[in-house]
Amino acid sequence: MADVDAVVVGAGPNGLTAAVTLARAGLAVHVYEAEATAGGGARTAELTLPGFRHDVCSAVHPLGAGSPVLSALPLEAHGLRWVHPALPLAHPFADGSAATLARSVEETAASLGPDAAAYRRLVAPFLGRWDALAGDVLRAPLASWPGHPLLLARFGVRAGAPAALLARLFRGRHARGLFAGLAAHAIAPLRTPATGGVALLFALAAHEVGWPFPRGGSQALSDALVAYLESLGGRVVTGRRVRSLEELPAARAYVLDVMPEQLAAIAGDRLPRRYAERLRRYRHGPAVFKVDYALSGPVPWTSEACRRAGTVHLGPSMEEIGGALRSAYGGGVPRVPFLITSQPTLFDPSRAPDGRHVLWAYGHVPNGWTGDLSAAIERQIERFAPGFGELVLARGAAGPERIAEHDANNVGGDIAGGACDGLRLLFRPTVARVPYATPNPAIYLCSSATPPGPGVHGMGGYHAARYALRRVFGAGAG
Ligand SMILES: Cc1cc2nc3c(=O)[nH]c(=O)nc-3n(C[C@H](O)[C@H](O)[C@H](O)COP(=O)(O)OP(=O)(O)OC[C@H]3O[C@@H](n4cnc5c(N)ncnc54)[C@H](O)[C@@H]3O)c2cc1C
Repeated sequence: MADVDAVVVGAGPNGLTAAVTLARAGLAVHVYEAEATAGGGARTAELTLPGFRHDVCSAVHPLGAGSPVLSALPLEAHGLRWVHPALPLAHPFADGSAATLARSVEETAASLGPDAAAYRRLVAPFLGRWDALAGDVLRAPLASWPGHPLLLARFGVRAGAPAALLARLFRGRHARGLFAGLAAHAIAPLRTPATGGVALLFALAAHEVGWPFPRGGSQALSDALVAYLESLGGRVVTGRRVRSLEELPAARAYVLDVMPEQLAAIAGDRLPRRYAERLRRYRHGPAVFKVDYALSGPVPWTSEACRRAGTVHLGPSMEEIGGALRSAYGGGVPRVPFLITSQPTLFDPSRAPDGRHVLWAYGHVPNGWTGDLSAAIERQIERFAPGFGELVLARGAAGPERIAEHDANNVGGDIAGGACDGLRLLFRPTVARVPYATPNPAIYLCSSATPPGPGVHGMGGYHAARYALRRVFGAGAG
């Protein structure tokens, strides 16, 4: 006899989306979360000084705002407000100029000099088609026939290419630097297949849905998901690290928002030995080193565009960005890190005391690295914002170990839920038509170790829950 219909382990964006999807189908759902607060990679906390609200993990949400499932949920009725910066992204160069990724394609193209026309040509086939494209891209490639096969094929021809190859469309350093920075979100060397697709998807997201943050920080997205789940009768239990399914209430389905090796440990002998062994061999990718700053004023960027942007990428050439990624991948520490930074308080003053600001910045390091990248990170910021150091009131540094302590899914500081090289971004945790399902029909995996991989979009949770609904509860189409 089941105590509840379904149990979800882990209250990250995927776990919460899975729980909501199951609860919307009328099921009784309980979620068990190891940390004291729900949200996983979408949480916000005072990591430096009182009143300064920093995002613990994710900060910027092109895939959240553009997620076919999250955008269809009534999250605004549960407190979510997306804040759109004046400019989604700026990418400055040493001479004070910047490439800008704007909501408008024209404004973006205008910042790319000789590559304006090439950029327009690259994005044109996909403009106005975000919903169709996102639905087909943010899913397991073999699970079902795409809804828009011609559009997906057109995207796939470009998206399957390594970023280094696709960037040959561009001649100038502005477009090449911008493109490399976008591809770096895949946390894989620029010669890796499909990294071009990551860059293209993030560029399209800027034009189609923006790169917003939730007002109050990423936690607001998680709080809205929890509030909606509770309104449907679901329950979230925090502070409960699950080590075995035996500890949990009896349920007809278990959906786990954990890494594959954890799934093997938690499910124990409920999974066949050979499948569990494959899960235990799952490979993780490089880590990140993050610094949160409490600042007495806005970052003094040399480039005017950076002062209008929510996100700023710091790496002045494709070669420098590629080199930093290669080092982190190969086990070395980049001398000059490529940085992804976010400055939400320019657009959401609720996140710091009056006139004060927060800055979120991270660079890439090898998995499990134990050194300190803080000084190199700050040197890189100073390169584009001289005088930055004088504004710093407090710093909170988190290397791989701390990143993993915040959230057990960030194994060794890997924030991408596993290595993204080769075809590992598309086929994870194993090559399977339905990677969310396990050989045990009651057990499902929904974390970022399933397609479509990393990011706050909830799509892994949605797909896993849909398969559970179909296979266990006989409801709907998967
Ligand atoms: C520093 C950093 C920056 C990032 N920046 C961005 C960004 O700007 N935009 C973006 O879209 N993405 C970003 N990401 C990635 C994003 O946060 C993740 O891809 C996303 O959160 C994955 O969602 P998930 O639900 O699969 O897993 P998670 O969010 O990791 O959630 C998993 C949850 O399961 C819980 N859990 C694990 N094991 C157990 C257990 N045994 N028992 C109970 N609970 C358990 C964890 O505590 C956690 O709450 C970033 C991540 C990090 C760390």
